[in-house]
Amino acid sequence: NIMEDQNEIKMKILLIGESKVGKTCLINSYVIRSFNINQLSTVGLDFRTKKLDIQGKQIILNIYDTAGQERFRNLATGYMKSADGFLVCFDLTSESTLENVTYWINSIKNTARKNASMLIIGNKSDLNEDREVTTEQGKQFAAKNGIDYLETSSKMHIGVDEAFETLVKKI
Ligand code: GDP
Ligand code: MG
Repeated sequence: NIMEDQNEIKMKILLIGESKVGKTCLINSYVIRSFNINQLSTVGLDFRTKKLDIQGKQIILNIYDTAGQERFRNLATGYMKSADGFLVCFDLTSESTLENVTYWINSIKNTARKNASMLIIGNKSDLNEDREVTTEQGKQFAAKNGIDYLETSSKMHIGVDEAFETLVKKI
């Protein structure tokens, strides 16, 4: 599925996870280096493109944003089939969003291509005082599922490049 043409590789990645965990902010933090405290809810699907150079290869990354609401789950499922990789996101200040990651992982396992890559992302690491999930709990949850784990703050631009680039390298 990955389109490779000499030095240019196209990849499609999808951000999934519950509503409000910060998927749209993570994409904006990565692609346009901005953060909006009043980020509007995403309706359906949206995507942004970022070009990057890794190990002498020009990568064209198409990053798809989804809405986590139940009513859009079918839509996201269609896009899952063609994705090369997934950032499965939750909010470190909301334990229920981590519990929901199980749903999204199963959804990927049932729908996506067998060799698609994924990474679990705990976002809003800047809100340390409001944490409901410790780094250790996040790591343990991810390890139990055999998936790598990273924490990010789209607000403070911490760990954001690393999250996307770790996934790209896996792909
Ligand atoms: P989405 O529904 O998953 O796309 O979530 P949004 O990107 O729309 O973000 C939901 C809310 O969380 C917004 O009010 C954001 O400003 C806020 N938010 C997103 N990322 C962070 C973060 O890293 N830190 C903090 N403090 N707030 C964040
Ligand atoms: Mg959104």
